[in-house]
Amino acid sequence: MAAKTPEIAEPLECETISCPVDTCLVPADLVLVSSDGIRVGAHSHCLELYSGGFISVLPTISATEALEETAEVLEILMYYMHNGRQPSSRNIPFHILQALAAAAEKYLVYSAMEVLNLQMERYIPSHPLQVLIYAVKYDYPDLSDKAGPLSIGVPFETVLNETENRPDILLLWTRYREYYLEIVHTIYASEPAPVLHPGGIADCGKWSEFHYTMLNKVAGSAEGVSKFSHNLKQLGFMLAGCFHCVQRSENWKHAITKRVEKIPAFSSMA
Ligand SMILES: [Zn+2]
Ligand SMILES: [Zn+2]
Repeated sequence: MAAKTPEIAEPLECETISCPVDTCLVPADLVLVSSDGIRVGAHSHCLELYSGGFISVLPTISATEALEETAEVLEILMYYMHNGRQPSSRNIPFHILQALAAAAEKYLVYSAMEVLNLQMERYIPSHPLQVLIYAVKYDYPDLSDKAGPLSIGVPFETVLNETENRPDILLLWTRYREYYLEIVHTIYASEPAPVLHPGGIADCGKWSEFHYTMLNKVAGSAEGVSKFSHNLKQLGFMLAGCFHCVQRSENWKHAITKRVEKIPAFSSMA
């Protein structure tokens, strides 16, 4: 069959592919091939109306060439390109949401971008690195500033793998983490000044054990800095009964917290 221009995947004559939107009865006039080899029906007028990016991408796609998105992602995306109720974005599993949010950005589906962005934000506590990468890629500085501190605990190997195609993001992350590592150095290099006990005693015995346990918790890691206050509080029982050692631990917390607060926002690394 001779190729037509533009080379979008048009339905074969004998092939009837319906629109994936279950309330839509309009026949599909073009077919998208997903990365997992499934043919997904679409309407060219919808792509034109609701997406700033699809139409410019499609003419370069041949009838057999697959898009980067899976069928599941393309099918949900089609709902955002119909004049109808949008699907609930709350229950989309993260791996789908991540691909969907990226597709909405790539194809400029404005009706989906904001709502998916809000859903991505919900996943910062469980997927800080993935949200951070999305935020940097698609220029959401507020989101990268929120995800940045939590991404510090992600192992370097994981960051390396996830940023495989974006060495610039790896560089930003490494520079950002450096601020935390400087504080790690401070934690090990200088102990907070003693708060003298009655009789001029520096340590009643509780502090040294507490300090040693805290250093083990920090474990030389950037994450140890971001969890410093939390761990200090958790180990507070070790100082129970000694006002002076508790005061010393409070001074330590304030000194480190002050430094953490001075770490520049992730978006300023660029
Ligand atoms: Zn339809
Ligand atoms: Zn004490």
